[in-house]
Amino acid sequence: MVVQRAQKYLQRLRSTSRVALWQLPLVAAIVIVAVAAPGPWNSESARPLIIAGFLLVCGAGAACLTVPWDRLPEQTVLVIPIADLVSIGLIRNAGDGTLQGLGTLAVFPVIWIAVSMRSVVWTLVTCFVGPLLISTPTLTEAVRRGFPAGASYSLLLPVLMLTVAVAIRAATAGLRVQERLLRTQREQLRALLAESQSTERLLAAILDAVNVGIVAIGPDGLPVRSNRRFKELLAASGWIPAMSAGGPKLAFLAQDRRTPVAREQWPFVRAAAGERIDGEVYWLGTGPDAVALSIVARPIEGPEGGAVLAFGDVTALATAVDDKAELVRTVAHEFRSPLTAVLGNLDLVLESEQLTPDDRLRLEVAERSAERLLHLAADLVASSSNAIPVRLGFADLRPVLEGRADAARLAAVAAGVQLAVELEDSLWARIDPLRVGQAVDNLLSNAIKYSPDGGTITLRARRSEGWVAIEVRDSGMGISADERERIFERFFRTSEARRSDIPGVGLGLALCSWIAERHGGRLEVVSDPGRGSVFTLYLPASGPSD
Ligand code: ADP
Repeated sequence: MVVQRAQKYLQRLRSTSRVALWQLPLVAAIVIVAVAAPGPWNSESARPLIIAGFLLVCGAGAACLTVPWDRLPEQTVLVIPIADLVSIGLIRNAGDGTLQGLGTLAVFPVIWIAVSMRSVVWTLVTCFVGPLLISTPTLTEAVRRGFPAGASYSLLLPVLMLTVAVAIRAATAGLRVQERLLRTQREQLRALLAESQSTERLLAAILDAVNVGIVAIGPDGLPVRSNRRFKELLAASGWIPAMSAGGPKLAFLAQDRRTPVAREQWPFVRAAAGERIDGEVYWLGTGPDAVALSIVARPIEGPEGGAVLAFGDVTALATAVDDKAELVRTVAHEFRSPLTAVLGNLDLVLESEQLTPDDRLRLEVAERSAERLLHLAADLVASSSNAIPVRLGFADLRPVLEGRADAARLAAVAAGVQLAVELEDSLWARIDPLRVGQAVDNLLSNAIKYSPDGGTITLRARRSEGWVAIEVRDSGMGISADERERIFERFFRTSEARRSDIPGVGLGLALCSWIAERHGGRLEVVSDPGRGSVFTLYLPASGPSD
């Protein structure tokens, strides 16, 4: 622990200060010993050696402070402890032997070498041979005098220093391994950081390059990160989102561009609650700055939660669709007056007694075609406008259905189809009789049209678990499974219907389904290709909840 702290402290120091710190205790010890033991200074022969040793250790100290060690090869600094060993040798062996105890100061350079030298062998050799050379004069003197105790005493210093070096190497071995491990980990972390930074830059570039506004929100519904396009969309719509607590200042509007969407239905709120949104269109802003956004939202899997929302600017498309609907509505509307005039006049002419049978036949064909056109114009107006009124009130469906069945009977007879009616007695529901009649008309006329080989059509109505179910069953051509999925789309027609040349434009079922929805109900179809279909209109007996 202490060694680790010391190492950290040393690492923070500048290289010269670090080296000087190693040297300082030795210089101080030598100065103290030299001053405290003035005896050898008086000896003529000892003085030059002491001065040389003194100068060498001080010179090494000065070199510690002045040489830019970090610019030199790492091991160069070891010349200092080696010079220290030399100077200790010079001073210790000067004079009459009174400074022999100075040999133990070799522990300072030995520790330094043991800690810093890379090669273990050279560490042990230096830490043994250096002190051995320091003890050599006393060792040879003891051997010369035949004094074995003195010789072994002199050998004590190198053995002691070797032991110190071995102990330090052993103690620091673990640290070195740890340091190497740390260094590797540091490098791996640095590489990972660089990689994640480059991935981050790449991701930001990709996000900014796409023409879709993208925003990631946290579980609280507040934006965490967004791309350039998202900010542009917000700026374009005049939407000033208070990214902090207050939330956005401007509400989302529904597709009619007027009705504000309730706060809990805002895409941010729904997405934050984990809901997936698939291409729903919301309007933001008003006037010429308003933008239509097609929104997709997906939750972020994982503990952090939140969601990612993508905003596609579909203003041009939404405006074009609106313009097209407006055009269709206007044209269809304009068709109605002349067609009514044509039908009225044909009616009058057909009342005449003077018509030849041939003329009558031709006029009836013209009347049927004009009726079809009027029908089509009405369908076009209805389906291109979500604003046709639906006035709900409690009414008995039975007379409505009986009336529609009677109206269809003529066409059924003409087509060679049997029409059966099975109605329960009391069929009260909250409905708009006009619109429900319109939907049943459509279902009956389809059942007749798409039964080219005759057969039976059944109009059945019953109450079932809070619903009134109006069923139109035929034994006609039926609809294949994949076409059934698209049957309620506007202008969709089955391939069989087109092949059989049965007239139609594919608007009737879309209108029926819309009428069912406006009543809080639904339209369902079950069909067996080649054997017939069953269309069921479910209307809530108590009416829609809103
Ligand atoms: P239209 O009858 O004018 O084409 P609809 O919207 O009423 O338009 O119907 C859409 C399509 O659904 C029809 O073109 C036809 O292909 C198919 N369809 C509707 N009703 C039936 C039915 N009873 N049997 C078979 N196919 C039907």
